[in-house]
Amino acid sequence: MAKHVGFVGLGNMGRPMASRLIDAGYSLTVCDLRPEAAAALTSRGARAAASPAAVADAVDTVLLSLPAPAVVREVAIGGNGLIAGSKVKTVIDLSTTGARVAGEIAAALAAKGIAAVDSPVSGGVAGAIKGTLADMVACPRALFGDLEPMLKNLGKVFFVGERPGLGQTMKLANNLLSATALAATSEAVVLGVKSGLDAATMIDVINAGSGRNSASQDKFPKAILPRTFDFGFTTGLMYKDLKLCLEEADAAGVPMSVAKAVAELWRRAFEEIGGDRDFTTIVELVERSAGVEVKGRR
Ligand code: NAD
Repeated sequence: MAKHVGFVGLGNMGRPMASRLIDAGYSLTVCDLRPEAAAALTSRGARAAASPAAVADAVDTVLLSLPAPAVVREVAIGGNGLIAGSKVKTVIDLSTTGARVAGEIAAALAAKGIAAVDSPVSGGVAGAIKGTLADMVACPRALFGDLEPMLKNLGKVFFVGERPGLGQTMKLANNLLSATALAATSEAVVLGVKSGLDAATMIDVINAGSGRNSASQDKFPKAILPRTFDFGFTTGLMYKDLKLCLEEADAAGVPMSVAKAVAELWRRAFEEIGGDRDFTTIVELVERSAGVEVKGRR
């Protein structure tokens, strides 16, 4: 495939992923609503385009990393979207949008002869920087073969099926587990601290025991115990993913009693702590009710 690709959405995830493609020898045409986001890439040789349509006039393959399903829809198939471009043939969506929107976008693009690749990622900002993301790709098998060498620069690439949306379902199932681990570990550690245990000791014990999970291994040591709350994913994005997951479960007729309780805690974090805050601040919700604070070693 061509070594010149487009990248729209250069935020917490998009910027480091685009940067890795530059490192791997790709030349990029980029676009973001925030000029400073594009500047971080143009300073490394990327060209800036004024709109998604202008990106799609310049390259045949475009990657997207955008915050919400409505934004992805607008950028991909809206008035001045990729669909209006003259050159684009493949659109790879790295965002989390849900299977319904992925299917809708794929159908609209297919009508114009453009292939949609559903390709959400997991592994956070650290994974995007290091190229250790898990990438869950749904697209025609032959196209996957063409794209895999490029996507490998972002992390471990998994082919999960041909139907658009299967990558999204995989990603939402993963994020349900990540959200559950962070919410439940917050409750467990606040309980321990209120009862007189040391938070850092608790995390050491949990990580040597059977309660070990992605929150105890990563989020607590890196962003909660030091109280930096800078893991790189917002509460608003996590709550969006849980709502998408519940919508999908509802449509599929799958009961989700744990997910509903977890989503309710994230709804409260969204409203009471703030959707723009780092998602590790969910611990503050539990702390406020309990009247204690989780800190590093006493
Ligand atoms: P972000 O908010 O940091 O970045 C989104 C970027 O898109 C911003 O730079 C914003 O200016 C730009 N943007 C918004 N609307 C636009 C438009 N119409 N045209 C062009 N640019 C536009 O979000 P993020 O944390 O980078 O997440 C991006 C996607 O990746 C989301 O779908 C998220 O759920 C998913 N994701 C995030 C993480 C994470 O750890 N942050 C991990 C896995 C997946």
